[in-house]
Amino acid sequence: MEKIAVRLRVSGVVQGVGFRPFIHRIARRSNVGGYVRNLGGSEVEIHVEGTLDNVLLFLHLLEKEKPPPAIIEEIEIEKTETQNFKDFKILKSSFESKLYSMIPPDIGICKYCLEEILDPKSRWYMYPFNSCAWCGPRFSIMEKVPYDREYTSMIDFPLCSECLKEYSDQNNIRRFHAQGISCPKCGPKVWLTDSRGELILSKNPIFEAAKLIDEGGCIIAIKGIGGFHIASLATDDDVVMKE
Ligand SMILES: [Zn+2]
Ligand SMILES: [Zn+2]
Repeated sequence: MEKIAVRLRVSGVVQGVGFRPFIHRIARRSNVGGYVRNLGGSEVEIHVEGTLDNVLLFLHLLEKEKPPPAIIEEIEIEKTETQNFKDFKILKSSFESKLYSMIPPDIGICKYCLEEILDPKSRWYMYPFNSCAWCGPRFSIMEKVPYDREYTSMIDFPLCSECLKEYSDQNNIRRFHAQGISCPKCGPKVWLTDSRGELILSKNPIFEAAKLIDEGGCIIAIKGIGGFHIASLATDDDVVMKE
């Protein structure tokens, strides 16, 4: 059957929201070949080729099943030459952007990540930095565009074998090519120090810090991904007046 090929440029919030893995997945479902790649700004380029029916199915799924945080502002589509792609690939990012960058924002935790944190059988049980393609920090951990792990502060935390397996698994909707993922084995850790920076040994530093705030008398600086939060017991006049 005769094959056709189209090239699409999709712009909007399409980086850092699981968009490329999503494209990869619907390309396989609709049996088209080609590639997807970031164009360095707020744009993604997609080449798809296959029978007319399959290409139409791809376009239909693109519209219908995009990831929850993605926002498509514009799709440019043009017919192009077929290139005999045998399969569909996620290519390395390119830097020939036409538009200014739209940096993906930090996204509040999704319900699936939260469920994992609360599930004693999950390997993310009580792990505060759990995130996926649909949630987690973006803007605050990026050093430059495009949003790829090597340009974020997560570069200091190489994935363990289990995370790498999920990152590479095309069928893993939330973690395939999700740039910010980690787990208790390979990701950032939480610890507590006194005001001189000496480590305070504790099984659960978050619980310990909450207890210290609750008891009053103590000001806790909580280092987050974008800076420090200063916390104390607001009903304790002495600690609020402390200089
Ligand atoms: Zn999530
Ligand atoms: Zn890991």
